[in-house]
Amino acid sequence: MSGSEAEEKEKPVKLEKVAEDTGKLVGKGLQKAWSVTKSFGKGVVDTIDKNEEPKETITCPHCSASVSSDSNFCASCGKKLVKK
Ligand SMILES: [Zn+2]
Repeated sequence: MSGSEAEEKEKPVKLEKVAEDTGKLVGKGLQKAWSVTKSFGKGVVDTIDKNEEPKETITCPHCSASVSSDSNFCASCGKKLVKK
């Protein structure tokens, strides 16, 4: 009847080629994701490092020096620090 049968024969999709392309895409995606993860992890570490500040300090009422809050005496003037 109508000779449209031949036109339905499209180019066969080569599954190997598709798999190869998909693999490349996935590989690229993974590489990118991994590098993002690495830089993200580095950023987190940097943030933690920065947030790790020295011990809390108080200002000496005698000489206005910054001394560790867990010190009983000022490291600068040697006077006793008033504690709460
Ligand atoms: Zn002092």
